[in-house]
Amino acid sequence: MYSLPELPYPYDALEPFLDEQTMHLHHDKHHAIYVNNLNKALENYSELTEKTIETLLTNLPAIPEEIRNSIRNQGGGHANHSFFWKILAANKDKIANYEISYVIEKNFTSVEKFKEKFKTVALSQFGSGWAWLVVDDGKLKITSTANQDSPLSIGQMPILCLDVWEHAYYLKYRNLRADYIDTFWKIINWQKVNEFYMATHQIKKSS
Ligand code: MN
Repeated sequence: MYSLPELPYPYDALEPFLDEQTMHLHHDKHHAIYVNNLNKALENYSELTEKTIETLLTNLPAIPEEIRNSIRNQGGGHANHSFFWKILAANKDKIANYEISYVIEKNFTSVEKFKEKFKTVALSQFGSGWAWLVVDDGKLKITSTANQDSPLSIGQMPILCLDVWEHAYYLKYRNLRADYIDTFWKIINWQKVNEFYMATHQIKKSS
């Protein structure tokens, strides 16, 4: 059985950028439903639940066909949201404190250019999905996925993400996805993002 992880901060911690009501609905309802549906789909496949959801998503073709779409959608929903909660924080962390800032500057000219490009990708994801900063083949890339697809399923390691489903922002921002993206930069846990980046770096070094 997979379980819903608790938020690593109080529900109102990200106010005013993300409001308490949105955080309750998003975590207690939306994320919880992905976890429940994932467990239902795996009722007859308990051996699979011994692996992490990230491990299952990394090799979808190895999943029995009967439940592959459930793992992709419900499992993706569980993994993506679990990851999203981790890279948010209320402490107004500064990217400049971490090595990731140099890597972003090297790849995208400047942090500002990176933010612009990320915004363009997040805005142009048609319908529901996610915007990502990933490490792909050792390089940083900005990408998006539809629905609950995970970058892990195409061999990319996520280090930052933004949920652009309407349920993530509609209560507070209504139709203004651009405003939601602009405020996102104020609630990022750069320490975590940096850790995720360093981890992919070490995986690459040791392999
Ligand atoms: Mn969501």
